Amino acid sequence: MEQKECIFCKIVQGQIPCFKIYEDEKVLAFADINPITKGHILIIPKVHAESIWEIPEEYLTAISHAAKKIAQAVKKVLDPVGIAFLQLNGRGVGQVVMHYHMHLIPRGSDEPELPVSQWELKPGDKDEIKRIADKIASCL
Ligand code: AMP
Ligand code: ZN
Repeated sequence: MEQKECIFCKIVQGQIPCFKIYEDEKVLAFADINPITKGHILIIPKVHAESIWEIPEEYLTAISHAAKKIAQAVKKVLDPVGIAFLQLNGRGVGQVVMHYHMHLIPRGSDEPELPVSQWELKPGDKDEIKRIADKIASCL
């Protein structure tokens, strides 16, 4: 189930400490030690799964439930102006720890805008948008 060299598996096994926030049978949530904002939290499955392509659906569901619960607590405690959920799949988009994790990133009113939620809106090529959308839709 766990992978020997995986840092998040080690946290699940209690071999590396963490600032635990929430735990149930399937998930563990703890504070990110390099927080982008105050209250930056990670939610992980208790099984080793690298990314969205490997994680079993029941763990994804459990993470969703935990995210809702934790977001409610974060709202109460920190009263953020918003909370971003960020989840990276693959080194090509910046995933560093190869054990699935959901970032929960609240932004306080005194904190700068999140780089992850700021991008320029530029209209795309409609033909290309449609071609790619149709191709993906036909595989579902
Ligand atoms: P990424 O894989 O890019 O989505 O990000 C991995 C995240 O894990 C980073 O935000 C790190 O700060 C965080 N991280 C790495 N090791 C630990 C640890 N031992 N405890 C808490 N957070 C960690
Ligand atoms: Zn792992």
